[in-house]
Amino acid sequence: MSGADGATVIGHFIDGKRVGGDSERRGDVFDPATGRRTALVELASAADVAGAVEAAERAARAWRDASLSKRTAVLFAFRELVNARRDRLAEVITAEHGKVLADAAGEVQRGLEVIEYACGIPSAMRGGFSENVSTEVDSYSLRQPLGVVAVISPFNFPVMVPLWFIPVAIACGNAVVLKPSEKDPSAALLLAEWFTEAGLPDGVLNVVNGDKEAVDALLDHPGVKAVSFVGSTPVARYVHQRASMAGKRVQALGGAKNHMVVLPDADLDLAADAAVNAGFGSAGERCMAISALVAVEPVADALVAKIAERMARLRTGDGRRGCDMGPLVTAAHAERVRSYVESGIAAGAVPVVDGREVTPDGDADGFWLGPTLFDHVTPEMSIYTDEIFGPVLSVVRVGSYDEAVELVNANPYGNGTAIFTNDGGAARRYQHEVEVGMVGVNVPIPVPMAYYSFGGWKASLFGDLHAHGADGVAFYTRGKVVTSRWLDPRHGGVNLGFPTQS
Ligand code: NAD
Repeated sequence: MSGADGATVIGHFIDGKRVGGDSERRGDVFDPATGRRTALVELASAADVAGAVEAAERAARAWRDASLSKRTAVLFAFRELVNARRDRLAEVITAEHGKVLADAAGEVQRGLEVIEYACGIPSAMRGGFSENVSTEVDSYSLRQPLGVVAVISPFNFPVMVPLWFIPVAIACGNAVVLKPSEKDPSAALLLAEWFTEAGLPDGVLNVVNGDKEAVDALLDHPGVKAVSFVGSTPVARYVHQRASMAGKRVQALGGAKNHMVVLPDADLDLAADAAVNAGFGSAGERCMAISALVAVEPVADALVAKIAERMARLRTGDGRRGCDMGPLVTAAHAERVRSYVESGIAAGAVPVVDGREVTPDGDADGFWLGPTLFDHVTPEMSIYTDEIFGPVLSVVRVGSYDEAVELVNANPYGNGTAIFTNDGGAARRYQHEVEVGMVGVNVPIPVPMAYYSFGGWKASLFGDLHAHGADGVAFYTRGKVVTSRWLDPRHGGVNLGFPTQS
C-alpha cells in the first residue's frame, strides 16, 4: 500500500491477510541511522481492533480443538521458516530499530528458542492423573486455552518480545491479537505471514498496528481474555489496572534500572568487558541493560579506567556497517537521553566519556549519541533514579557489600542484576538477598533460557506469572480437575455428606 505522497503504508494482518484499516490516523516510521522517514504505519481505531478480535474469536473456537500434533506441526514448520530467513528478519529490525545487524540476529535467535520450547507443548501442558482417589474414583487435571489473548509489545525487541508470547499462546490453543510498537511495526507482519505459510489457520494470529487507542480497545474488549504487555513502567501499571478492571488475566512487564555490583575480588578485566557489553549493547535500549555499576571500593578507579579504555575502541554508526553500536530509535528519544547527560553534568557527576562528542560512521541526520560513562554518581541524581534507556552508564561508588545490596534493594525496579566476584559465598549470599527477578553471577545480562521464565520484580512486573517457560503455559491456560467414576453395581446409593475419601 502507498499513501497520498507515495510513502509506503504499513497496515494490519487480520484473518490471514494484510489489510488496511478504517482509521485515518498514521504514524511515521524512520530509519534511525539516516533519520529518514521510510514508511507510514496505520494507527488502528477501536473498530479495526474489534475486527481483529472477532476474527480471532472465530479462529479460536476451532484451534482449541486442533490436536497437539497438528499444533506442533505448525510450530516446527514456523521454526524452520524463521531459521531460514533469520538474516532477512535481522535486516528489517535494523532498518526500523537501528540496532546493529549482529545484535538483531541475536534477538531473532532468542525468539527462535521460544518457538522451540513451544514445539514441546505436549509435555509442557501435560496434566496429572490419580487412580482410586476414592474407591473406583479417578481424578485428573487438564489445562485448557483461554480463547483470545492480546500481546502488546515495545519498540526495543520487535521480534523477540512478540515471540516470548505468541508461540506459547498458540501452542496452548489460543488465538492472538498482537499490537506491536508503532515505531518498528514491519517485523511483526512478517512473523504473521510466515506463521500462515507454516500452516496456521487464518485468524489464529492477527496483528493490529497502532498506539494508545488500539491498546485501550484491546484492554476493554470483552472478547480478549488475557493481556501480555511489555513496555515502560507507567504504561505497564496502567495496562495492568485497566485490563484487570475489565476482568482479564494480565502480565505487564515494565521498565528497569539494572545494577551490576563489582566486589573487590572480582576479575576487573572480565567486569569491564561485561559493563561495556551490557551498558552499550543495543545503545542501552534493553530492559536488561546495565545502567548502574556499583563499584565496591577500592575497585572504582581501576575499573573506570578499564571501562573507558574499552569505550575508546567502540565504533558508533549505521548498524549495517559492522559498527558496535547503532543510533537511538527516534530523534525525540535521542534528545531525551542527551538531556539526561546534561542533567548528570549539572548535578555534579563526572563525565569520563561524553557521548555527545561522538563522530558516527553514518548519515549526519541519524539519531546519534555515543556511549557515555559517568563516575561519582549519587543516588539522588536523575541519571541514577530514572530509566534513561540509552547508552549511559553510571558508576556509583560504595564502601561495602552491605551498602551495595541496600542500594540495589532500595531501587523501585527489580528486573535484572549481576554480581562480579570470585567469592562463591558472596555470590550465593547476593542471589539470596537481592530483590530482583533475574540474577547473574559473573554474567551481566542474565536473560533466562526459553524453558525458564522471564520476568522482574517490583515495578518491573505487574501480575504474577512471568513470560515463557512453565509460567507462560500457566498464563495461557486454565486448570480444570475432573473426578470420575464409571458406574459399578456397588455405587453406594444416596449420601448427602460432603465427599471424602472412602
Ligand atoms: P512504551 O511503554 O512506550 O510502549 C510499549 C507499548 O505500549 C507499545 O506498543 C505502545 O504503542 C504502547 N503504549 C505507549 N504508550 C501507551 C499509553 N499511554 N497507553 C497505552 N499503550 C501505550 O515502551 P517502549 O518505549 O516501546 O519500550 C521501552 C520500554 O519497555 C522500556 O521502559 C523498557 O525497559 C521496557 N521493556 C521491558 C521489558 C521487560 O521485560 N521488563 C522488555 C523490553 C522492554
